[in-house]
Amino acid sequence: MLQPASWDKMAPSCTDGVNSLPGNCVFCEIVEGRRKAAILYEDPEVLAFRDILPQAPTHILIVPKEHVPSAVAVSDPDLWSKLMDVARKLALELGCEDKGYRLVVNSGPQAGQTIPHLHVHLLAGRSFRWPPG
Ligand code: 5GP
Ligand code: ZN
Repeated sequence: MLQPASWDKMAPSCTDGVNSLPGNCVFCEIVEGRRKAAILYEDPEVLAFRDILPQAPTHILIVPKEHVPSAVAVSDPDLWSKLMDVARKLALELGCEDKGYRLVVNSGPQAGQTIPHLHVHLLAGRSFRWPPG
């Protein structure tokens, strides 16, 4: 499991609720095939599947196969390029490039992160407001 070197020195308000273990992680269960999901993309490091409660006509979650609790726990910056490249490929494959799409990473409770396994939301198929709620 990846952890930032200074995890224990971080303010609790930033990390509360996002530091889970892989054993009871919903997205680890999907990665390991212990929980069903509509998988759209897979490679040795990244998995993408449809969100179970879609907030837009297209709502895909792109996750690292390794359990990384949140954005702040990403110690290898290359992971971001891998996740973003999969998002780009899926957006093209699903024909989202013309009308547009939104990528979202919620990190921590105040941002609304509910599953403590890093994931990028790819949302498309409707207009989105800014600023987000
Ligand atoms: P967060 O709120 O952490 O940014 O996003 C977590 C997302 O995971 C939510 O959009 C939620 O609907 C989705 N989700 C939660 N449990 C499951 C599940 O078991 N399967 C799938 N495919 N998505 C899930
Ligand atoms: Zn996990």
